[in-house]
Amino acid sequence: MSVPGQVAAGLATARPGSSLQASTRELSTAIGAEAYALCASLYPICRSLTGEGVRETLRRLREVIPLTINEVPSGTQAFDWTVPDEWNIRDAYVLDGDGNRVIDFKASNLHVIGNSAPIDAVISRAELLQHLHTDPTRPDWIPYRHTYYRHSWGFCAPHRLLENLNEPEYRVRIDSRIEPGSLSYGELLLPGSERGEILISTHTCHPSLCNDNLSGIAVAALLARDLAGCDRRFGVRFLFLPATLGPLVWLSRNEELAATIRGGLVLAVCGDAGEPTYVRSRHGRALIDRAIEHVFMHSSPKASIRDFAPTGYDQRQYCSPGFDLPMGGFMRTPNGEYAQYHTSADNLDVVRPEGLGDSWRLIRLAIDILQEDRRYLNLSPKGEPRLGARGLYADAERLGLLWILNFSDGRHTLLDIAERSRVPFWTLHEGAHRLRESGLLREVSESVPG
Ligand code: ZN
Repeated sequence: MSVPGQVAAGLATARPGSSLQASTRELSTAIGAEAYALCASLYPICRSLTGEGVRETLRRLREVIPLTINEVPSGTQAFDWTVPDEWNIRDAYVLDGDGNRVIDFKASNLHVIGNSAPIDAVISRAELLQHLHTDPTRPDWIPYRHTYYRHSWGFCAPHRLLENLNEPEYRVRIDSRIEPGSLSYGELLLPGSERGEILISTHTCHPSLCNDNLSGIAVAALLARDLAGCDRRFGVRFLFLPATLGPLVWLSRNEELAATIRGGLVLAVCGDAGEPTYVRSRHGRALIDRAIEHVFMHSSPKASIRDFAPTGYDQRQYCSPGFDLPMGGFMRTPNGEYAQYHTSADNLDVVRPEGLGDSWRLIRLAIDILQEDRRYLNLSPKGEPRLGARGLYADAERLGLLWILNFSDGRHTLLDIAERSRVPFWTLHEGAHRLRESGLLREVSESVPG
């Protein structure tokens, strides 16, 4: 797979913030187009909780970023859960009396319930209907269903198809295998110079559905590629794994790492034309919550913020009481609140390059705040230092220099000052850079608490 329009490596986070914000806006247009192309290339693959579809997806992502693909054997315990047998499928169909495929997996992989057991039988129409899922409220779309933890089988189809199913019996065939194998997930750590990590997690288990969640996969992959080219104070770890069980497996294998996570995001539903939505961490005022709130206030004023609920995406696992990680959720139109959600209409028309690029830009800015939220000390704290004598007078107001000097007492971080002054973080970041160059400010070395 070729991803068009390779974008130059990302911006060093050490650069002054205002130029960073402007450049990120320009980059996001090119990145949006590239993310869309990545969604399109991954769209046909039949993914599930486990199996070759997930592996193929991860292998293709390796053409963009150097992912490690981890394989966790069936039967492995992850807290209260167990990795199931692996599911793979070659073909599936329902044949009428003339041998026509009235339902055809090859036309859409959503036609088969994910993880369906194999079957090859001639059954009555009544029995077929017991195994056929339709949605009368959206009669033209195929609903998305899976049966991960129950050994059963079934098909999904547009409700309108029922009008044509008039024969007394049908041949049904699902050419699938459920046997010991492994759960596959992708992982990439971009190491930092200081202890602590930022975690970005996205789910890989949905078949041909675009906004949920090829959008999250594409945005995460292109964030990883961009950040790989930057100086990093803290490591950034990317996880591409099946929803629910994936985070549980990762957490169970990395309990000691969990304590070093300074903040992170679960990315899903990142590509539609709606406004961004953020779901706070369980903590609610963690650095990531404040960073996103700040980014939204200055760069996406129509975005909305919701409180944590243990009903959302994989924050449920990362924010479970035994971990309580500072992880929030980034979405656009939330899952379940757009009509096409979990149907065949969640296709390449729902995801827009502009939405993908905008999500990438906002998350990139929030990661920058997590990386760059430092604490400084004013080295001339008795009265205001003479800025004019240091050539800083003309830019003092623009860069919030008096705010930085007044509150750089070793206790307030740049984000604290940005929140209090309502001056954008990246403006203060540039201001702090200028004050350090002038010898008026130095960094207080201890890390900011997460
Ligand atoms: Zn979903």
